Amino acid sequence: MAAAFRKLRFSRFCFLPRSICAGKYCKTASNVRFEPYESTHESIYSQEHTELRTSLHKFIEKEINPFVDEWENAKRFPAHELFKKLGSAGFFGVNKPTKYGGLGLDYSFSVAMAEELGSITCGGVPMAIGVQADMATPALVNYGSEELKQQFLVPTIAGDFVACLGVSESGAGSDVASIRTTAVKKGDDYVINGSKLWITNGLQADWICLLANTSEGHPHRNKSLICVPMNIPGIQRARNISKIGMHSSDTAELFFEDVRLPQSFRIGQEGMGFAYQMFQFVEERIFAGASVLLSFERLIKETAAYCAQRKAFGKSILDNQYVHFRLAELQTEVELLRSIIYRTTDLYLKGKDVNQLASMLKLKAGRLGREVPDACLQFWGGMGYTSDVEVSRAYRDSRLLSIGGGADEVMLSIICKYMGTFPKDQTFL
Ligand SMILES: Cc1cc2nc3c(=O)[nH]c(=O)nc-3n(C[C@H](O)[C@H](O)[C@H](O)COP(=O)(O)OP(=O)(O)OC[C@H]3O[C@@H](n4cnc5c(N)ncnc54)[C@H](O)[C@@H]3O)c2cc1C
Repeated sequence: MAAAFRKLRFSRFCFLPRSICAGKYCKTASNVRFEPYESTHESIYSQEHTELRTSLHKFIEKEINPFVDEWENAKRFPAHELFKKLGSAGFFGVNKPTKYGGLGLDYSFSVAMAEELGSITCGGVPMAIGVQADMATPALVNYGSEELKQQFLVPTIAGDFVACLGVSESGAGSDVASIRTTAVKKGDDYVINGSKLWITNGLQADWICLLANTSEGHPHRNKSLICVPMNIPGIQRARNISKIGMHSSDTAELFFEDVRLPQSFRIGQEGMGFAYQMFQFVEERIFAGASVLLSFERLIKETAAYCAQRKAFGKSILDNQYVHFRLAELQTEVELLRSIIYRTTDLYLKGKDVNQLASMLKLKAGRLGREVPDACLQFWGGMGYTSDVEVSRAYRDSRLLSIGGGADEVMLSIICKYMGTFPKDQTFL
C-alpha cells in the first residue's frame, strides 16, 4: 500500500499525482485551473430545475425587485396583484398535482424555487410567497377532501386567493399544543372562537389554514386544521403589527367571534390537526433555509466588492486578512447550510423522516441569519448603518429566522429528542 502510494509521483506544487495530472492541468500551483464550480448546480437539481430558476429569476427582476423599496416603505406589498402574476406563471404549484393547476413536479423543484426567491432584495416578499406556496397548503394537498381542494387549493395555486397560516396565538407560539382557539360542533357546523397573532399575509388573505381545538382531551389529539374563508361574519383583522424588519410583509392579529362554517371545511380527520401541522412545519423549515442562501451569498459578495474599493490606512479594507478570511469563513458556512438543505431534500424525496435534519438546517439558518448580516454590516462601517444599503435591511429581516417557524431553542429540543438526550420528565411537543 505504502509502496503503491510512493509510486505516485507528485509535482512540486500540484497536489494531483502525475498519473492523473501529467502536466495537463498545471506545472506549478500558480496556473492550476479547474472548471469553474457552479455551487448552485447540485445533485438534486437538473437542467429542468435550472430552467425553472432562470424563469423565476427573470420574473423577480421584472416584477418584484424594482418595487421592493416602495413596498418596504408602504409596510405591505400588493399580494393579490403579485400573486396573480406568480400563479399565472405556475410558481405556486410547482410540486402540486396537475389536477389542481399545479405543475406536478417533485418537491426538489419547490426547494429550487425557494432558493431562487433569495434573489429578492428583501425578506418580507419571499416569506409571504413561501406562506402561500409551502406553509399553508401542504396539509390541504395531502389530506384535504376533493371539495376543499377545489374550493381553496385551486384558486391558491392560480394566485386568485391569498392564503395565510394561523397557528400562533398571544399565549402560544413555541408551545403549539397550548393554543386556546376552539372550534365547537353545532349540528353540522363548527363555531370558532379565539384569536391568532403574527399571521403573515393575514391582512390580505382570502382564507386561513387555521389550527383550532375541536375537542377536549390530549393536546396532541384534540386539534384540527380548518380552511376558513376570511370574509365570513365574526372575523376581525385587528392590525398590521409594527416590526423591526420584514416591512413589506403584513403581519396581522386576528379575532374570531362565533365564526360559523360547515364541518366539511376541516382538513382530513378530526383530531389530527397537530400532527398535520408538524408535517407542514417540515416543509416550512426547509423553505426557510433554502430561501436565504442567495441572500447571504449576495451580502458576502457585495461586502467584498464594497471593501475592495473602500480604502483605509493606505490599502483596501478587503486587503486586511481579517476581512477576507472572515468573508471566506461565512461563505463556507453558507455552503454547509446548502449541503444540509440538499441532503434533507434528497431524503425527504425518498420518503424518510427528515424532522431532525429539517430542525438542524432551520437552526443553522437562524444562526447564520444573525451572523452573516451582522459580520457584513460591520465591514460597511457607517454606511452599513444606513437604510440605503441592502445589508442593513438583511440585518433586520434575517433576525426573524431564529424565532419564526419555531425558535432556535425549539429546534434544539427536537434535535435532542432524536438524540435521546431530552429530559424524560419534561413534556415537549
Ligand atoms: C414576522 C413574524 C411572522 C410570523 N408569521 C406567522 C404565521 O404566518 N403564522 C403563525 O402561525 N405564526 C407566525 N409567526 C409566529 C412565530 O412562529 C412565533 O413567533 C414563534 O413560533 C415563537 O413563538 P412566540 O413568539 O410566542 O415566542 P415564545 O413561545 O413566547 O418564546 C419566546 C422565546 O423563548 C425561548 N423558548 C421557547 N421555548 C423554549 C424551550 N423549550 N426551551 C428554551 N427556550 C425556549 C425562545 O428563545 C423563544 O424565542 C410569526 C412571527 C413573526 C415575528
